[in-house]
Amino acid sequence: MENKILGLHHITAIAGKAKQNLDFYTKVMGLRLLKKTVNFDDPGTYHLYYGDEVGSAGTILTFFPYEGAQLGTAGPGMATHISYAVPEGSLEFWKQRFEDFRINHGEVSEKFGEQYLPFTDPDGLQLELVVPKNGDSRKPWVTEEISETVATRGFHAVTLTLRNIKATATILTDIFGYKLVEQNGNHYRYITDAVENAAIIDLIEAPGATRGEGGAGTNHHIAFRVKNEEVLMEFRKKVAASGFNITEKIDRNYFYSLYFREPGGVLFEIATDNPGFGIDEPFDQLGSSLLLPPQYEASRSRIEAVLPKLD
Ligand code: ZN
Repeated sequence: MENKILGLHHITAIAGKAKQNLDFYTKVMGLRLLKKTVNFDDPGTYHLYYGDEVGSAGTILTFFPYEGAQLGTAGPGMATHISYAVPEGSLEFWKQRFEDFRINHGEVSEKFGEQYLPFTDPDGLQLELVVPKNGDSRKPWVTEEISETVATRGFHAVTLTLRNIKATATILTDIFGYKLVEQNGNHYRYITDAVENAAIIDLIEAPGATRGEGGAGTNHHIAFRVKNEEVLMEFRKKVAASGFNITEKIDRNYFYSLYFREPGGVLFEIATDNPGFGIDEPFDQLGSSLLLPPQYEASRSRIEAVLPKLD
């Protein structure tokens, strides 16, 4: 169990204006701002993390917001839809809320025997709220407007759209321990039994579709969760032995990571539970100040001057 892939760790997407992104995810969606830091590879840009109270793996959605970003187009070669688990009976609340805030949304529909409500964030990122068949016992972050009876519990699934699912599916089943549980037309559902939540990867096969193009409103990568660095390095060996180029271990301050691009085009990351979001600020103050990794501390005033204002 402990040496397995434990479902999703986080998902990272690209956004336009940082303030608009912050308002949507914290106010409309009621997520907790977990961390306000910078893109470690581009410190003039924020890296914003949202999730539950402590930043549990499987709840973490992160963004690189670029003020003047071009909008991207979701399509094959990308993670195209992010699903959040919500309690039974909450979809009407959310539909009304999206109407009140003029958020683009569809109608409540059903797939794989589960009700869901599709919507998009202000940059057009495709999201869904899903009532999982087997419920979801995770404790949600709540706000004044989003009570426990409706609050999101964390990820339910992520959907990858691919021209051909074969090579990607093989990684999921043969390396990551997922199983195909259902197929509906060109829509395939893979699940791992290593965890109870954030355990689903859906694949859509869209052979003729134009490849997705990165930009605001598209996902940059998805990260799978492992317990610690030892398991991380075991997976590094397995992925490399299957012929894929995988990075060395990278220190992301809040977790350790490896990255490789799977043959369908999606950037996969594997990330550890340790050390977690409490490493540089107390849990009751997560997200309250701009945190920089040690290598940028000396440039703090310059970095703060170029970052857009969030309040
Ligand atoms: Zn990542």
